[in-house]
Amino acid sequence: MNTEPKFKIHIVFDNRCVRNGFLTGFGFSALIRNPYTNNYSLFDTGGDGNVLIHNIRQFEVNLNQIKNVVISHSHFDHSGGLSEVVRHNPNIKIYVPKETQASFQRKFSQQEIIGVEQAEEIEKNMITSGQIGSSIKEEALYLKNRSQEIFLIVGCTHPGLEKFIIKARTMGNLKGIIGGFHGFRKYSYLEGIEIIGACHCTSHIQAIKKRFPNHYKQICVGDTISF
Ligand SMILES: [Zn+2]
Ligand SMILES: [Zn+2]
Repeated sequence: MNTEPKFKIHIVFDNRCVRNGFLTGFGFSALIRNPYTNNYSLFDTGGDGNVLIHNIRQFEVNLNQIKNVVISHSHFDHSGGLSEVVRHNPNIKIYVPKETQASFQRKFSQQEIIGVEQAEEIEKNMITSGQIGSSIKEEALYLKNRSQEIFLIVGCTHPGLEKFIIKARTMGNLKGIIGGFHGFRKYSYLEGIEIIGACHCTSHIQAIKKRFPNHYKQICVGDTISF
């Protein structure tokens, strides 16, 4: 019997695909339950706080149960829901790329904004990539299990998805990715990855589906991925 603890990744915001009872809007967000801490964390917040909160509640989770929110980058479709999140849970810990810390701090003057520079463990087996890239700096999230396997959650990957993949592979065996791949076309980096959940801003979904028909996974709001 496999007794490996499993992360649950609930898709709470996406603009491409939505299950019954859930709402859609422009952006991306995933709600993560960490089996090593029993905490919930949010990765990105979509562009609309009311849509986001509706979807989180559909999973029977209350905002005040969420311990951390990790914002990939400041673009509206990833951070637009943050003010509603903070309104419902003023104690939530907020992680943003270091270069945007000051602007988030101005907007959320009552909150402590944590600026992320290097890769660091936010809580057990949940690691931020640190801020990656030059013009738009972005952070992503790595989930790690006991077998040293990695699941990568990304926002828009403006700096290039391969940069996040290369870093993941220094930590363990990369098994899955979800999020926005933007204009990514360096498909050879995806070889060997079991779950390829390209969604949100991914331009070349059809090409990815064609090249990896057994591993491409359609991601819809309302879906849960276990890892
Ligand atoms: Zn963006
Ligand atoms: Zn985006």
